Amino acid sequence: MRKDQKMWLKDLDKKLEELNIIFKVDEPLAPYTSIKIGGPCKRMIFPEKEKSLLKILKFLENSEIPFFVLGGGSKLLVSDKGFEGVVINFCKFKGIEITEENEKKIILKILAGTRINEIIGMGIRKGFGGLEFLGGIPATLGGAIKMNAGAFGNTISQLVKNIRIYKNGKIKNIKSEESLWEYRKFKENGIVISTELEMERMEKERVKELLKKYLEKRKKTQPLFEKTFGSVFKNPPTYYAGALIEACNLKGYQIGSAKISEKHANFIVNLGDAKAEDVLQLIKLVQEKVFLKFGIKLEPEVNFLGCSL
Ligand SMILES: Cc1cc2nc3c(=O)[nH]c(=O)nc-3n(C[C@H](O)[C@H](O)[C@H](O)COP(=O)(O)OP(=O)(O)OC[C@H]3O[C@@H](n4cnc5c(N)ncnc54)[C@H](O)[C@@H]3O)c2cc1C
Repeated sequence: MRKDQKMWLKDLDKKLEELNIIFKVDEPLAPYTSIKIGGPCKRMIFPEKEKSLLKILKFLENSEIPFFVLGGGSKLLVSDKGFEGVVINFCKFKGIEITEENEKKIILKILAGTRINEIIGMGIRKGFGGLEFLGGIPATLGGAIKMNAGAFGNTISQLVKNIRIYKNGKIKNIKSEESLWEYRKFKENGIVISTELEMERMEKERVKELLKKYLEKRKKTQPLFEKTFGSVFKNPPTYYAGALIEACNLKGYQIGSAKISEKHANFIVNLGDAKAEDVLQLIKLVQEKVFLKFGIKLEPEVNFLGCSL
């Protein structure tokens, strides 16, 4: 049985000190999300090593303390009230190791908190590629795996060889196969610890060229430098969510300081001080309008913490 909050917080702080894990108290979540919305969590913890990460995960589970795994916060809407639990921030759990290489391929073992842009950056320095289609997105590898991030006809799943996850108190090493993936989803539950990606040997100039090409495409069609969480809705089969929303004349529609992007109708922009409640209202309104006009129920791609539709 879970103890009351005061008790578990006391036990948790003691455990964190024992494990040498850095933590913050009542930390606001807005700065850790790309849309810059969200109230505080009770504790934000920053594990750096696998051993201490696994120990704290077991402790949280055994003590029935509510927790949430945070990557880059780029597909996340956090409630204005925040989260009455522990946020495990993966930003310090990062690193890239070359495990195998030949003249065609290079296999990397990458910790889940490593930023996608860091992997691409290493490719430019060392001469390998494959992930440029995700260039510019503020995601971690763990978040990209969980969401099977993709763009321009590619998905990260195409590069994955093995995934190491934590599930039910145990570590599981999974060989990647097609049946484990679907549109914007890695089907296996659990916490991604690390992943092996198979990258292609490439001239450095070619990697730069591809990155530039994809970034230019993004800049043209997406509000890349505004406060958003990327696409709000999944594309329904055979349709583009953005086109359906645009056809309902919703581009530019605003609730509070949350606005449907003029550039891409499947993006919601925080104009400055938007509340999670504004974004939720806007999401519901879009769902209603699209359903009325097309009979299609748009499914959110964004994850919610402390709030729901
Ligand atoms: C400007 C912009 C452009 C974008 N463009 C694209 C795009 O082209 N394609 C695309 O697919 N997405 C895009 N996104 C959305 C986003 O970057 C992706 O969904 C990304 O995969 C989220 O990764 P994250 O690390 O930010 O995850 P978070 O937002 O932190 O978390 C997302 C979910 O993954 C879970 N999670 C995070 N890390 C782990 C882990 N280690 N183990 C288990 N679960 C974990 C979280 O608990 C949460 O449920 C864009 C976002 C922005 C802001």
